[in-house]
Amino acid sequence: MTYQPSAHPDQLSPDTVVVAAGRPARGHDAPVNPPIVLSSTYVGTGQVVDGDRAYGRYSNPTWDPLEDAIAQLEGATEPALVFGSGLAAVSAALSLIPVGGVLVMPSHSYQGALVMAQEQSAKGLFTLRTVDVANNDEVIAALTGAGEKAADMLWLESPTNPMLEVADMAVLCRSAHAVGALVVTDNTFSTPLVQQPLALGSDVVLHSVTKYLAGHSDVILGALATSNADLRHTLLHHRSIHGAIAGPFEAWLALRGMRTLALRVERSQASALDLAHRLDMHDGVSRVLFPGLPSDPGHVRAKAQMSGFGSILCIEVAGGQEAADAVVSALKVWTPATSLGGVESLIERRRRHANEPATVPASLLRLSVGIENVEDLWADLNQALSQAARGGLAAPAQ
Ligand SMILES: *Cc1c(COP(=O)(O)O)cnc(C)c1O
Repeated sequence: MTYQPSAHPDQLSPDTVVVAAGRPARGHDAPVNPPIVLSSTYVGTGQVVDGDRAYGRYSNPTWDPLEDAIAQLEGATEPALVFGSGLAAVSAALSLIPVGGVLVMPSHSYQGALVMAQEQSAKGLFTLRTVDVANNDEVIAALTGAGEKAADMLWLESPTNPMLEVADMAVLCRSAHAVGALVVTDNTFSTPLVQQPLALGSDVVLHSVTKYLAGHSDVILGALATSNADLRHTLLHHRSIHGAIAGPFEAWLALRGMRTLALRVERSQASALDLAHRLDMHDGVSRVLFPGLPSDPGHVRAKAQMSGFGSILCIEVAGGQEAADAVVSALKVWTPATSLGGVESLIERRRRHANEPATVPASLLRLSVGIENVEDLWADLNQALSQAARGGLAAPAQ
């Protein structure tokens, strides 16, 4: 699985951009890496004008190289905006919906984003229409409103969490724009190396930087990128006034982690594809959800709009929920934990979360494939699945 280098201002490939972007200006004895600036305020000798740093809630020099790197990777012509978490970025993006407007969102969106949208809609801020994002007709009907009000925002996530459905992104972006709706795409699962939502027509792209971009499960951070200067200005104002800003150390760590993004994604994607094929033939697994498998319903679309298939895959364990719990507790190399996108492989049964939609099967395990040796990952899965299939392990006490 290799990346298709996309156009970049300096004609560099994305795997070079992750290494080269956001470096301090060269000069004799200049540092190779940007410094961490710990200051809550900035010296001001005159009137405050637009673009001045002024105060630490508006701006921090440590954010700049990270924002520059994310914008370059997503092909945005404006600097990105980093936030204190992915959900803080979600909150800013949802604020673009006018009061009384309509949001169309996948029913299998990231749980936190879905809960936020449900709560805001329950308060009467806007109307929420949830859709099967893989079904073009259903999404387009929700966008046009079929006699009701047309949508103001289309939220896209593809592949979805955790069902890994694939949206027809270019077609849905055109349909959204035809009714005057903005498109926000959560690109956390794919990373800009695998999928480029702005090029596919999205207005804003969102990341939980916590996941692949930072990549080491040691930082919580979010980001938005857009090429629309007016939208960026509105989102920047939201961040400054609502205050969900990034700590300088977290921003520095995220850029530090991003330097190896291309290597990590290349390795984990190749392992995910390999594991998906092997799991597909395992007796202890009743279904594998992974767009990289030719039999997967999202395969053709994923192949057309992504340069790889990502490194998240899901399985349904043959023996049901108890067998799925037994598999998780029998694993030694895989870590049982929520989250994804780190160097270490993580696994969890999604329905253990009370808010997980009931449409997610109780026996479904989500696997975030890390960068360990794939044979070690497979051997661990194989022994745990085989033990659970033999009923050799009791489900852990909850
Ligand atoms: C984790 C995640 C988020 C939320 O990000 P946080 O950094 O945890 O706030 C949003 N979208 C997706 C797809 C995620 O995986």
